[in-house]
Amino acid sequence: MHLLIPAAGSGSRMKAGKNKLLLKLNGESILYWTLKAVFLSEKVSWVGIIGQPYDKSEIINSIKEFSKKIHWINGGDTRQESVRNGVNNLPNNATKVLIHDGARCLIKPELIDKCFNELEDNDAVILAVKVTDTIKVVNKNRIIKETPNRNFLWAAQTPQGFLVTQLKKAHQKATENNWDVTDDASLFELLKWPVKIIEGNSTNIKITSPIDLKIASLFLTNS
Ligand code: C5P
Repeated sequence: MHLLIPAAGSGSRMKAGKNKLLLKLNGESILYWTLKAVFLSEKVSWVGIIGQPYDKSEIINSIKEFSKKIHWINGGDTRQESVRNGVNNLPNNATKVLIHDGARCLIKPELIDKCFNELEDNDAVILAVKVTDTIKVVNKNRIIKETPNRNFLWAAQTPQGFLVTQLKKAHQKATENNWDVTDDASLFELLKWPVKIIEGNSTNIKITSPIDLKIASLFLTNS
């Protein structure tokens, strides 16, 4: 099974002045912990890291023993562009692929395997959790427009898994139509292709701001 890790962000919301995946978490980089979980998966046999060329040496140094096992792919200006580069650089024998954000370093290997298994019966799957807050849709003045029924709301995470031929086509359509999305499932939705939700867990947070680092440190210490 092939797995791609988008790791080419700038981490502006972290305000660390560099790629947040290089920040230290319990003594190792965030990306190190992500790779540790990925390589504990029973299903993953090929891993591509999509990163900015200027981060390459620091990333490779920070992932220690995993550096010899990964394949490097240059990233783009947006996550969407980075994933597109990743998909276009998969080996020819790749039929299914999981995309997992480098910033979700608390992913459990069993959940990676579960996504893979669900790809047996579905062309596209994503890990997600039920939303527990009441969500408000607002206008540009922050006046509430509506409150969607929470029973139908899920918060999307990664891994997200796809048939490679379909994911390539979806990215091609996105380029043709100037679609601008924040995850790959969104492209399938725009194309009216079904995407199955797999229930994950709420510890699979995406490290985004400094508080997330503290939370992740606690989880790693106690796992
Ligand atoms: O910024 P955010 O945390 O939402 O990004 C999600 C993932 O996408 C991160 O792992 C980040 O490194 C990656 N990314 C990327 N290329 C970009 C922007 C973000 O690979 N240009």
